[in-house]
Amino acid sequence: MKIVSTVVDLRDALRNSKSQSFVPTMGNLHAGHLSLIEQARMVGDCCVASIFVNPLQFGANEDFGSYPRTMDRDCELLEEKGCDLLFAPTIGDLYPEPQTFKLHPDPALADILEGEFRPGFFTGVATVVMKLFQCVFAHAAQPGHAFFGQKDFQQLLIVQRMVQQFALPITVHAVPTSRDFDGLALSSRNGYLSQEERREATALSQALELIRGAVLAGGGDLEGLCAKQIENLRTRGWQPDYLTVRRQADLQRPAQSDTDLVVLGAARLGRTRLIDNMLMNRGSA
Ligand code: AMP
Repeated sequence: MKIVSTVVDLRDALRNSKSQSFVPTMGNLHAGHLSLIEQARMVGDCCVASIFVNPLQFGANEDFGSYPRTMDRDCELLEEKGCDLLFAPTIGDLYPEPQTFKLHPDPALADILEGEFRPGFFTGVATVVMKLFQCVFAHAAQPGHAFFGQKDFQQLLIVQRMVQQFALPITVHAVPTSRDFDGLALSSRNGYLSQEERREATALSQALELIRGAVLAGGGDLEGLCAKQIENLRTRGWQPDYLTVRRQADLQRPAQSDTDLVVLGAARLGRTRLIDNMLMNRGSA
């Protein structure tokens, strides 16, 4: 695997490739990230990963400084998985001058849920993803392929919408969430959990699963179902930000006739903020 840190070196390394598959990450790789690499390896002629902890998407009180950075181990894992090229820029490489031009996603999609609790987050995400796409795909002879996890479902929708509205020659592939043995969605932030918190952490996916089961069994009071699980998490010591059932297509509140739904949740356990979601189709219940 070749490792480059500058945009010039990245483009040089891609000179002889016709179609790239690309997996953007913030590093501290786990099996969820590696499942994206596995999928990416199946298309295109060069599998590119990036590792960049993007300061633009962190709020002032968030964990930019303490976000786990494990470059050597990440390189080993990418190499083992057959990744061809790693783009690991420094902040100065990717933002040689302050990034004052930014991409603001549709507030109807980006200012709700995660965007409500992390103001500016999706502007930071959309801006860095657009920039990374320019770096990786700008000179491609054929359309590219980008891989995103369903674990960050709102992010996936925003990237899909961005690609569509800017007519980027990129196919966005959605990869299902990888989970640990007890259902906890894999996340770099799981490493912040104490042993005791790690045992408790499974309660978030359990709450989502209970809501999904109740909706599929015909439960129509979505707000009531979610309120019950929010209360349960609070009693167990969590600080939930939201648990809610939305339409898969646009994350708005579903009407009776909507069938493709997603239950999304975010909650803080101690100093760790966890997010998760589960898809459901109540037409197929
Ligand atoms: P991150 O490094 O957290 O920015 O994530 C990089 C990519 O990996 C994003 O597209 C995430 O949605 C995806 N990802 C993170 N965790 C998981 C998981 N447990 N399963 C599948 N994809 C994931």
